[in-house]
Amino acid sequence: MDKIYLSSPHMSDEGFEMQYVKRAFETNWIAPLGENVNEFEKEIAAKVAAKAAAALSSGTGAIHLALKAAGVGEGDIVFCSTLTFSATANPIIYQNAIPVFIDSDYETWNMCPKALEQAFGKYPNVKAVIVVHLYGMAANLDRIVELCKQHNVVLIEDAAESLGTYYKGKHTGTFGDYGIFSFNGNKIITTSGGGMLVSDNEERVAKVRFWATQSRDQARHYQHSELGFNYRMSNVLAGIGRGQLKVLDQRVKKKKYIFDFYYRELGSLQGVEFMPCNDWNEPNFWLSSMTLNGKVKPNDLVEALEKENIESRPIWKPMHMQPFFQKFDYIGTDVSEKLFENGVCLPSDTKMTDTDLHRVVATIKKLW
Ligand SMILES: *Cc1c(COP(=O)(O)O)cnc(C)c1O
Repeated sequence: MDKIYLSSPHMSDEGFEMQYVKRAFETNWIAPLGENVNEFEKEIAAKVAAKAAAALSSGTGAIHLALKAAGVGEGDIVFCSTLTFSATANPIIYQNAIPVFIDSDYETWNMCPKALEQAFGKYPNVKAVIVVHLYGMAANLDRIVELCKQHNVVLIEDAAESLGTYYKGKHTGTFGDYGIFSFNGNKIITTSGGGMLVSDNEERVAKVRFWATQSRDQARHYQHSELGFNYRMSNVLAGIGRGQLKVLDQRVKKKKYIFDFYYRELGSLQGVEFMPCNDWNEPNFWLSSMTLNGKVKPNDLVEALEKENIESRPIWKPMHMQPFFQKFDYIGTDVSEKLFENGVCLPSDTKMTDTDLHRVVATIKKLW
């Protein structure tokens, strides 16, 4: 039986990616930077309706430089969604700042505005907030943006998983001061590895590009008056990204098809509850996820699928439960813990056929 993946790279049938990569080879713009990087930045900025974008080597690097652009430094407090991948939180430590983890709510699975409000009460001197749009579902942005404005705090959106997701018609990643995207291999589109920072503050984005190219001052000799990073995206990989961007809408459509299929087939099984799709949210359905609150446990399901050569995963383990991060403060009840305990991500690979989907569903139904 062929392996069915959770979410693997899916190049366009038309070969768009190769056309851009080929052009980079033909013009010897393998490095440094070049047309693909410049155009990819413009194309992403246009897609999400942001004024500017900086193409970087990873989403993690983009979060790091967003924090730096926000002025986060040693000893500063940063509120961060606890239910996420560690890449959201690690850059807080790179900047020698202090994360305070914020719980989820059941309505969005993302940052709970009530817990955030409580955190502002406890830490009035907080420097920035990082909110995550998990599995392509938007957080409660109206409320979170309002709270950040009230407290005059910089908002960074980790939209690594939500390229193609809109909240009330506006693209995720453009509500805060900075938004970041990832083009890692398992994301909805990929450059094999890469990231993007977007913002309406063009001057700050120019600064991010400067830091990302070793902070080289305008001088013929190598001169540096600031700490630099080697965080730029390569021109070859940006070519892959430009080709992938052409099929993003197709990918979102297929992800939604996969979600609808699972919802129809599994939605009425005892104890099954799918990730929430609020009417103000147009998700990209990156990973179809559900919670199991009956006799079948996520682990049973993951194991049964594994036996059939099908990949699935538990929900992210919250940061405040991680050995590395548990010494930091956490504000909330136990929503993210419950979601972790009961949650599972189903294979959501856009290359899956209907036969593959039936195979997944049949394996799962046998457990009930
Ligand atoms: C993938 C991911 C990142 C990191 O992106 P990379 O490009 O792999 O560095 C950050 N946050 C979340 C929520 C992610 O899923």
